[in-house]
Amino acid sequence: MIKELLKLGNPQLYEISSSITEADMKDVPTWVADLHDTLMEYRRVYGAGRAVAAPQIGIQKRLLYMYLDKAYVFINPVMEFPDDEMYELLDDCMSFPGLIVKVSRHRRALIKYFDLEMKPQVMELEGDLSELLQHEYDHLDGILATMRAVDNKSLYMEQMKRDFS
Ligand SMILES: [Zn+2]
Repeated sequence: MIKELLKLGNPQLYEISSSITEADMKDVPTWVADLHDTLMEYRRVYGAGRAVAAPQIGIQKRLLYMYLDKAYVFINPVMEFPDDEMYELLDDCMSFPGLIVKVSRHRRALIKYFDLEMKPQVMELEGDLSELLQHEYDHLDGILATMRAVDNKSLYMEQMKRDFS
């Protein structure tokens, strides 16, 4: 089901989400279907969007959904950084369409998580995928890209993007 995406300023977006427990597992397929439908609707309207975090649709659980060549479900993810190399990029978010934030993210990361069968998985990330999943992971801790702005002049409206590309 398509859900409403919580928007910048909604206090729920600043909450820390709780881990998915065994008792939650019966609800996970419904949550994943809702995340998928909501992501696809966002793509239809805005022509972008690769991943979404459960708290963005009001589910305060540590669950991420990404759709690229196929669907990826991240249950109780943990991120690790193999080195300290950072880079700056222009970030956006489905919770504030039209607003862009210059942030600094780790170039490389590891995400450890459980899949839908609750099997442990590890994915090595670099560049695009690394910054994408750092962004989504932040949602689980109540952190928005706006809070990661490299300085207080690093928020831009979408129309300004061409000036930086
Ligand atoms: Zn976001």
